[in-house]
Amino acid sequence: MTEAYTALQSLAQVFAHRTRLRILDILARDEACVCHLTNILGEAQAHVSQHLRVLRDNGLVVDRRHGVMVYYRLSDARATAVISLLKDLRRAAGAEDVYPAVPPLPVAGCPCPHCAAASTSTARECC
Ligand SMILES: [Zn+2]
Repeated sequence: MTEAYTALQSLAQVFAHRTRLRILDILARDEACVCHLTNILGEAQAHVSQHLRVLRDNGLVVDRRHGVMVYYRLSDARATAVISLLKDLRRAAGAEDVYPAVPPLPVAGCPCPHCAAASTSTARECC
């Protein structure tokens, strides 16, 4: 019984980092590569990669290789349900937190293929 709580504690610790929470929020919208996440988060690529590894090793995200690119996505949508529940608990406690919105594609300065494709389609739409 104690071992079960220890395992639960380990999983809860995966959620106990603001960068990992934000990565999960971003991936709730769509898959993303490290460079895309780095551009949104404004953090070093090595730092973002480290958090993605923790999330992947704990089964919350999976990766997909496409050529030289590696895309990450949620492996289970219940991860975002956990975050929603945490936000609800904060609101119930009277907090008026404001969470940054996930920016639409293309993200300024992001060289990832998804942003490049969005830039091209945006350019076509307005020209
Ligand atoms: Zn991008």
